[in-house]
Amino acid sequence: MKMIINGKYVDSSDKTTLNIVNPYTLKVIDTVPNASEKDVDMAVKIANSALKSWSEVAVTKKIEILKKFLNLVDENKDDLAKTLMLETGKPITQAYAEIGNIRIGFEGFMERAKHLYGEVIPFGTEMGNDKTMQFTLREPVGVVAAIIPFNFPCDLFDQKVAPSLLAGNTVVVKPPHQNPLTLIKLVALLIKAGIPKNVVQIVTGDGPKTGNSLACHPLVHKITFTGSTKVGVLTYQNAASHLAHISLELGGNDAFIVLNDADIDLAVEEMVWGRMYNNGQVCCASKRFLVQKGVLDEFVEKSKARLKKLIIGDPSKKSTEISCLVTLQAAERVEQQINNVVKQGGKIVLGGKRVNAFIEPTIITNIPKTADVALNDEIFGPVVSIIPFDTVEEAIEIANASNYGLCGCVFTKNIRTAFNVVKQLECGGTVINGASFFRSFEMPFGGYKFSGIGTEGVLSTFNEVTKIKTVTLKNILD
Ligand code: NAD
Repeated sequence: MKMIINGKYVDSSDKTTLNIVNPYTLKVIDTVPNASEKDVDMAVKIANSALKSWSEVAVTKKIEILKKFLNLVDENKDDLAKTLMLETGKPITQAYAEIGNIRIGFEGFMERAKHLYGEVIPFGTEMGNDKTMQFTLREPVGVVAAIIPFNFPCDLFDQKVAPSLLAGNTVVVKPPHQNPLTLIKLVALLIKAGIPKNVVQIVTGDGPKTGNSLACHPLVHKITFTGSTKVGVLTYQNAASHLAHISLELGGNDAFIVLNDADIDLAVEEMVWGRMYNNGQVCCASKRFLVQKGVLDEFVEKSKARLKKLIIGDPSKKSTEISCLVTLQAAERVEQQINNVVKQGGKIVLGGKRVNAFIEPTIITNIPKTADVALNDEIFGPVVSIIPFDTVEEAIEIANASNYGLCGCVFTKNIRTAFNVVKQLECGGTVINGASFFRSFEMPFGGYKFSGIGTEGVLSTFNEVTKIKTVTLKNILD
């Protein structure tokens, strides 16, 4: 498949390509251009040239176009879900869910876009201003570079592209290098629905070449990046070179705290959802299971029994619950991380093995709080890392010892204890009696510390993709 610049399917100017591999079969299913700096430059300049005309299109008209887009997505949902499953290794039911989310996400932003009200500052708030009226307007920030990771490419496309377009920006999408095909199809549908061809571009390619060129381009006014902390920090530095606005949604190592008075059956079910979904490749998956010693054995035994029941295999089958990771290399990395946890004192009580791009659902217990995984080693796979603790204070100390601060959760029947724990957790999202893997389109989602800067969601993204202009009317009263 080719990338789309100015409405045309094009190759990269240097004719280089990337192979797209189905991680289940390990076979190449397609190739995409590996866009050069020159291609990125062309895409950004086209997007920049469209700014004025697109910002002048009424929001009602923009919504009309996006409604057509959503109908096209519905018409093409089987093809989109299949493409997403093939290039990502996501179980097909989860691929359908992600395609279904496009409507939920876009509609949320479409409703909100009509209500981006400014504010009026009352007369006379400061000495000498009693005849001065001040109010605010929101204006588009400009060309938005949307850099998207592999794990939920469509969800993050919704989070970034919908509000950017609705607020009057133009967009250059940089899809994940492992699985860009579904996003190319979505951009084609946006253009088919009526988004002008100079308003949305998609440049495919690897991170250091295509992504880096995009982040460094001086005509990119805003970078909205979701991905690893390592690349996020680099992108922040690149944005600084031309003072681009930036939002960073980065990695996490969320704590899942189970206290002695918790409902263990509930905690185990939430562990399955919060750790195994998307084959364990979720930013806000619960990744560190801090379990109080009084319920440790029960949690481990019930978790083992539950994970043994999961149906593992071919992602194209509706019954499959767990499949492979996104690439063979990703699975090899998780395998190394599991070995490292064991070296540092962890004891595998379930799974632990890799076959091609598959990692068995794994439980490792007795992990010391000083182990890498208990601190900053984010494992992106179906691995339950259990760190036992004695007191609530100790659990909070372990949870906050990580450089990451995306989300966290606590299980207890005592709501007072629960509030005290969430109040003390140093992270952007907290859940009581549920896994930290909770992200609605409405909520402002974002991390503390090395998990990011800014938040995304219907409630907050418009603030991130617009600039505020103040208008002052002086001497308007007698
Ligand atoms: P990644 O950082 O490797 O890649 C993310 C995107 O950046 C891809 O499009 C990639 O091609 C591009 N990229 C890579 N190098 C680049 C460079 N030098 N300059 C510019 N762009 C570059 O991340 P990934 O492996 O795709 O995703 C997994 C990570 O993303 C995990 O750490 C996960 O926690 C995080 N994540 C965070 C959130 C969130 O909302 N906080 C959501 C999803 C994933």
